[in-house]
Amino acid sequence: MSKTVRFATKCIHAGQKPDPVTGAVTFPIYLTSTFVQEAPGKHKGFVYSRTGNPTRTALEENIASVEGGKYGLAFASGLAASNAIAALLKLGDHLIISDDVYGGVYRLINQFLSDWGVKVTQVDAANVRSVKSSLRKETRMIWIETPSNPLLKVIDIKKVAALAGETGAMLVVDNTFASPFLQNPLALGAHIVFHSATKYLGGHSDVVGGLVVNSDESIYQRLKFLQNTFGGVPSPLDCWLVLRGIKTLHVRMERHCHNAKGIAEFLESHRKVKTVYYPGLQSHPQHYVARRQMKEYGGMVSFRIKGGVSQSTGFLKALKIFALAESLGGVESLAECPALMTHASVPTKRRESLGITGDLIRLSVGIEDLQDLQEDLDQALSQAG
Ligand SMILES: *Cc1c(COP(=O)(O)O)cnc(C)c1O
Repeated sequence: MSKTVRFATKCIHAGQKPDPVTGAVTFPIYLTSTFVQEAPGKHKGFVYSRTGNPTRTALEENIASVEGGKYGLAFASGLAASNAIAALLKLGDHLIISDDVYGGVYRLINQFLSDWGVKVTQVDAANVRSVKSSLRKETRMIWIETPSNPLLKVIDIKKVAALAGETGAMLVVDNTFASPFLQNPLALGAHIVFHSATKYLGGHSDVVGGLVVNSDESIYQRLKFLQNTFGGVPSPLDCWLVLRGIKTLHVRMERHCHNAKGIAEFLESHRKVKTVYYPGLQSHPQHYVARRQMKEYGGMVSFRIKGGVSQSTGFLKALKIFALAESLGGVESLAECPALMTHASVPTKRRESLGITGDLIRLSVGIEDLQDLQEDLDQALSQAG
């Protein structure tokens, strides 16, 4: 496909041609573990499905195109993808990560990678100066997530990329919350972008997966080697589900953003709400950064309810359309209390210093009718006590 086509067209077509054998419009799910060879070592590019599978190749080419990079790689989960990226580091390397990265990434880095002799510094990367003051000559990687979870802090990717350039470090951006529809970190100077495809890319809460995109041949070859060596690859069916999800990414994201903005504004004026965190609000501390680097502001909204844990528990139990569940990015709306659920494994002291307390509620705003969602939040807030 021509490289000049635009985002929506890439979502639907990149990496996929009608099947030459049957003419099937939808790309096939190649459920096979192995491939026939014409003569020993003579094959059509596929040998064994851990190393490569056509449905996975279609997804890898698709995400590379959608993210505006050269190379895509698919993994069995977002964390399998993070593990391959983390394994680019060696003994003695220094890694800077933003202090509120996804809990599973935090665990990978603090309870695993640090045992392998990688030195780690955590910083509030929304404050670019603290990234600068943490740089060392052995800083090999900077790892950020923007918008962050659950407080939706926004980090200036361009500025952090410039700092990474000072020590020749790789900038890794977890783009899960924004999705490629809202922000393309590679175009802003990042070296590696990764996604939990479980969220907006899959989009229907029916598959777990991870994707990595970059444009540097040698980094790609190393990551591909690690993908095959660790073996954390997705099944062809899972690849197909993500491919299908991406076909509607642009349409879903528009509605996620529309609904989330409506809800953020509604909550901001609600008498039972203390604070609302949404990058699209003027009151958001990095609103001006979000406006520059994102197309719109995403489908995630967090807020503090007046009171404490008992009010947030009462609110969550009273919801009828929002489901009480972890995860995010699906068509259906979800609500949760990070301190008791997604972030319960973060040590209490650290959690509180990050502002993740019992009154904080995180919404993954789905694509249902906005009025219905607002009415559901309103009735649940009135029952919250
Ligand atoms: C869910 C998530 C991950 C981990 O992905 P899995 O698919 O659950 O392994 C990483 N980063 C962010 C921001 C996430 O939301």
